[in-house]
Amino acid sequence: MGRTIGIDLGTTNCCVCVSESGAQTVTPNKEGSRTTPSVVAFTDQDEHLIGHIAKRQGVTNPKNTIYAVKRLIGQRYDSESITRAREHLAYEVVCADNGDGWVKCHEKVYSPQEISGMILRELKESAEEYLGEEVIDAVITVPAYFDDAQRQATKDAGAIAGLEVKRILNEPTAAALAYGLIEGFSGMVAVYDLGGGTFDVSILELANGVFEVVATSGDTFLGGEDFDNAVLNWMVESFQKETGINLRFDKMALQRLKEAAEKAKCELSSVEETEISLPFISSDNTGAKHLNLKLSRTHFNDLIRELVDRTRQPCEAALAAAHLNESDIDRVLLVGGQTRTPLVQDVVQDIFGQEPCMDLNPDEVVGIGAAIQSSILEGEIKDIVLLDVTPLSLGIETQGGLVYKMIESNANIPTQYSQIFTTVSDNQTTVSIHIVQGESEISSNNRSLARFELVDLPTAPKGVPQIEVTFEIDTNGIVKVSAMDMQSGKAQSINITPTSGLSPGEIEEIIARAEMNREHDEKRKEFIRKMNKLEGMIHTLEKTNAEYGSYLNEEEQGRVKETIADARKAINLEDEGMVFQSLDKMARVSKVLSEVVMFNPGKSKE
Ligand code: AMP
Repeated sequence: MGRTIGIDLGTTNCCVCVSESGAQTVTPNKEGSRTTPSVVAFTDQDEHLIGHIAKRQGVTNPKNTIYAVKRLIGQRYDSESITRAREHLAYEVVCADNGDGWVKCHEKVYSPQEISGMILRELKESAEEYLGEEVIDAVITVPAYFDDAQRQATKDAGAIAGLEVKRILNEPTAAALAYGLIEGFSGMVAVYDLGGGTFDVSILELANGVFEVVATSGDTFLGGEDFDNAVLNWMVESFQKETGINLRFDKMALQRLKEAAEKAKCELSSVEETEISLPFISSDNTGAKHLNLKLSRTHFNDLIRELVDRTRQPCEAALAAAHLNESDIDRVLLVGGQTRTPLVQDVVQDIFGQEPCMDLNPDEVVGIGAAIQSSILEGEIKDIVLLDVTPLSLGIETQGGLVYKMIESNANIPTQYSQIFTTVSDNQTTVSIHIVQGESEISSNNRSLARFELVDLPTAPKGVPQIEVTFEIDTNGIVKVSAMDMQSGKAQSINITPTSGLSPGEIEEIIARAEMNREHDEKRKEFIRKMNKLEGMIHTLEKTNAEYGSYLNEEEQGRVKETIADARKAINLEDEGMVFQSLDKMARVSKVLSEVVMFNPGKSKE
């Protein structure tokens, strides 16, 4: 049996861990880095680049560089979050037929699941390279506040990558597992997790191997990206004040500004002032314009204070849901790269009245926790019980568009609730039910999960059929629905229409497309290798020709020149046929020259 890897699939960065002989190891990616940027880029040649290489080319190819796709996964096009995401994304987000927000690149559309699947595939392959064995099983983490659609979409992304997702684990729970197991923490713990795109806070009780999530809260639209944007906005305004040029509509400039903003933000975690310098950021009829700014930590704190303060309310909500005061919390754990900002640490201290703890690397702790969960599932780690909760209430729409809550938020999972349904008119054979998730009493203010119909009901007078419908939230936080005819005890058929997400057929299609793309990518890589080889041969031939070419007769000299010129042309045109021909011709010409060298060693003549 292969090993199960733990994956922290972050908005900005991912981290993969595996348990080896009881200890958790971060598996580096193909470039040797311990984290991989969650970025996919599509080049003009239709290649897919993933991770650092994709992030690097983002400056020159912003429209086709997809980042922060986690903000779109499982989201509806018209939902507030998609609209907000679109304001800051350099790439195009369009509405898919099912209402989900998809990504458009080079005239092709991709679901966020497919993009996440590409990232996961890369992580899987890196782990396989590191471990020297095939990897199929994985535990993937998600923000605790993810709803059913977002969890299901994440699971689908895993399937697209060829992974069997054994468990969807909440990120703060993963972090608590790591602290509990590695650092031996116990008692009441608050996990404050501020990553690249989301904020989560969870309160857990750790005692005698039982990790019980008591309450959770958060904001799926608050994270490091917003901090970067706050700095970016200030940079744009400052530049406009100085030059009158508005960079907001210049996608290329925006990408460079975004990178510089994040860099400045990270530097201000350890220095009091930083310089931002972006030469040739724009130009007008007076010539090129350069951006040169200084940002102090005090000024930076002013820019981000409102964002940091937005984390207070979810912390208070989690404490209230757990019926606790801040003084009941024994430890506060910091998770997520954004918690490195000193103001964030100050605000956390202010909220909980104690210094927060960052003993484990905040970029890796979630991945480590996922690897621990993998070991628990494999039976390698015993005596640990994990009791998680559902972050959102589950209900059904009732008359007048109101909601009847079946499972309250913060209920322990797995959990289930059964309800008897019947008919309202004689000989009615179908009943329609609409499932929603969220805290509002008004159905339309919640997330619509699915509509389902009880079909083929026995013809009977109204009120006679007794159909028991069971709503279940599994350990992954994913909702399942089943129904039973109470009279016959048989399963009652239901038709479920998810209001978002991908159908099994669509997932299959994406997997097949990914396979085809991989073949295409492999061919392209092979061709690039051939072009590199030809480039090397040109270089060597030119050098040898410069030294020994005059020993050749005129005809041979002409052939060398022609061969080099043809090879250059082949590379410039990226013409496969010409490249292959040139490799052949090069080999022949090189042979003639090497014979000359052999007969005239050390006698190079100008
Ligand atoms: P995560 O989702 O946990 O990988 O967090 C990524 C976020 O943390 C990104 O927005 C990063 O810019 C941010 N981040 C990483 N390192 C630092 C740092 N030293 N100071 C401030 N923010 C950081």
